[in-house]
Amino acid sequence: MSCILVVDDEPVVLDGCEATLTKTGYEVETTLNAEEALDKIEAGRYDAIVTDLKLPGLSGIQLLKIVKDKEPETDIIMITGYATVQTAVEAMKLGAFDYISKPFTPDELRSVVDRAIERRRLLREERLRATKNRVAFEYNMPADLYYLPEHSWVKVVTENTVDIGIDDVFQKTIGVITDIKIPSKDTIIEQGNPCAEIYGAAGRVYKLLAPVNGQIAEVNELLKKDSSLLNSDPYGKGWIARIRTSDFAKELANLLSGDAMIRWWLRREIVERKTDRYVQISALNPNFKHEIAREPGGENIKVCFGCGICTATCPVREIDSKYNPRKIIRMALLGMKERILKSDFIWLCSTCYACTERCPQDVKFTNIVNAIKNIAVKEGYTHPVFTAQVDLLAKHGRLYEIDEFDNRRREKLGLPKLWTGEGSAAKIFETSGLLDILKK
Ligand code: SF4
Ligand code: SF4
Repeated sequence: MSCILVVDDEPVVLDGCEATLTKTGYEVETTLNAEEALDKIEAGRYDAIVTDLKLPGLSGIQLLKIVKDKEPETDIIMITGYATVQTAVEAMKLGAFDYISKPFTPDELRSVVDRAIERRRLLREERLRATKNRVAFEYNMPADLYYLPEHSWVKVVTENTVDIGIDDVFQKTIGVITDIKIPSKDTIIEQGNPCAEIYGAAGRVYKLLAPVNGQIAEVNELLKKDSSLLNSDPYGKGWIARIRTSDFAKELANLLSGDAMIRWWLRREIVERKTDRYVQISALNPNFKHEIAREPGGENIKVCFGCGICTATCPVREIDSKYNPRKIIRMALLGMKERILKSDFIWLCSTCYACTERCPQDVKFTNIVNAIKNIAVKEGYTHPVFTAQVDLLAKHGRLYEIDEFDNRRREKLGLPKLWTGEGSAAKIFETSGLLDILKK
């Protein structure tokens, strides 16, 4: 049975939370202040902690920082008054799982605690799967979006309009989504406050927090007919609404994107260990994807949304199951520069263009892998097979060395001798500067 610790200086709130969560099937402990909470956390392991932001002595935010430092796997849900929503958004950036605003209903408390426990269960499963398959696990988080983590995403459409939608992990922890209620056109929404109600299995209602301030300009009508798009295509057809923003530049400070989002996830979910099953945070280079995007052919790398069609199409993958174009792109977006440049994989691509033909995002993986190879060569990571081939071409003008034995056999068959082309290609390589590059 999952155990929840509730921290609040109001006994009536503690009693209400305890009654609600106990009825839901959780074991519950309560305490009136953060100092006592820390003693309890030392003594026992809780699956989640629900704490008020404002506490006498140590504040909820201080408690959050200490717990995240000592027990990063414990999820913390903040309770906040309306006036402190900004602080609560900030708390999520510091690693809080979520927050609920006072006054909250028993159902709201149950929904958020259930999601935290379900998310922990999914992560455990995912880790187990990752360990068995000897792969690092992945999250679907397109690099060109901004996130209110665990809730919603924002995509910039024009200077004053954005699309918003549901974050991958939020939808996964809810499970099958049966319905969604979105406020009508022209409704004002506020960053950090609920902007939609999402209905999951067993009629449970989840509140989706808005990632921006603004006015709803358009609602995705498709979702009224088919709410399953929120599960199947949360970053595409499952967009929720188009918003006319009021001060997006200012609100951006409360959102995460790109490298900051990756660091946030890595801090929360992936243990830094020196084995190839885990990502080593210290070895990441967040600029790698920009470097690839600057190379001719690498421009579209950031729009990959990880669908895996390239991998499913690839003929090399059929022969070598370790070769995985989608994984190479995810690794590049995460900044795993050294591992990619040193790996054999980038040299396995046969440049058949099948992946490029079928990619729904026009990512052009074939060109991207060429861009990566160019960077690898510039940085001195040329694959030995490639160097050996250039040596053969430089010496003989062919990849296959012609010797006397070949020419004697040809003579017996009545064929003319083959020209060995000694040194002719070397001149081309020398003039083009290829030999200098390879010497690096
Ligand atoms: S098919 Fe395109 S969008 Fe899908 S994973 Fe491959 S490169 Fe990314
Ligand atoms: S171009 Fe390379 S990665 Fe793409 S399908 Fe062909 S072999 Fe696979």
